[in-house]
Amino acid sequence: MARKPIIFGNWKMNKTPSEALEFFKGIEGYVTGDEAADYGVGVPFVDLDVAVKNAGKIAVAAENCNEKDSGAYTGEVSVPMLKEIGITYCIIGHSERREYYAETSAHCAAKAKRLFADGITPILCVGETEAEYDAGKTAEVVSTELKESLEGLTADEVSRMVIAYEPIWAIGTGKSADVNTAESCCKLVRDTVKDLYDEATAQAVRIQYGGSVKPTNIKEYMACEDIDGALIGGASLKVDSFKEIIDATK
Ligand code: 13P
Repeated sequence: MARKPIIFGNWKMNKTPSEALEFFKGIEGYVTGDEAADYGVGVPFVDLDVAVKNAGKIAVAAENCNEKDSGAYTGEVSVPMLKEIGITYCIIGHSERREYYAETSAHCAAKAKRLFADGITPILCVGETEAEYDAGKTAEVVSTELKESLEGLTADEVSRMVIAYEPIWAIGTGKSADVNTAESCCKLVRDTVKDLYDEATAQAVRIQYGGSVKPTNIKEYMACEDIDGALIGGASLKVDSFKEIIDATK
């Protein structure tokens, strides 16, 4: 089955609304929607509205959501809020959220279920730490995170989601995983989905590699059989480098 590539920036906690607007003005019209790949960017909550109104054919993702609809959860943002302003993707389980904000795989499963209920596609992140990698525990960590994060999701839902394999040691370090490691881990993600669901679901789910992806290395990753796209932090912040990433993949 041919999977449509999916390339997303993840701005993390960067850019004010005026800076976000400047970015989208700088890239206006660059993505037409006729490309062979889907392009998008994850932005901070306060930038979402500006992004939706100015991103054109670039999809917009929230970087987090709460699994509950409303209530006394100070500082949180619900899925209905995201839906009402036109958000179509939401990153969940990023390692920074797992590490600094105690987001668990159980939270991810609940968030994913809630997102699907409103037609928003989750981009679920999984990945091991450097110590786990060195100890040869990558497969165990990644398959456990996946199993727990997909709990309660149907095969149909999983076939429509995006899973980003992001080794923590490669995030923001400039030390990207070599292509063979990235491919074997993305294959591991696909094989785990197959074990949990079935072959058709595994063949349908889109899997991204993330961790120090740049305009100069994205092509190598995209050439791999089980890598359907990339989740890009630092190199997605500047118009020129995001354009170069688009050029390298369209
Ligand atoms: P960098 O591309 O800056 O390494 O960040 C990767 C990442 O965490 C994307 O979610």
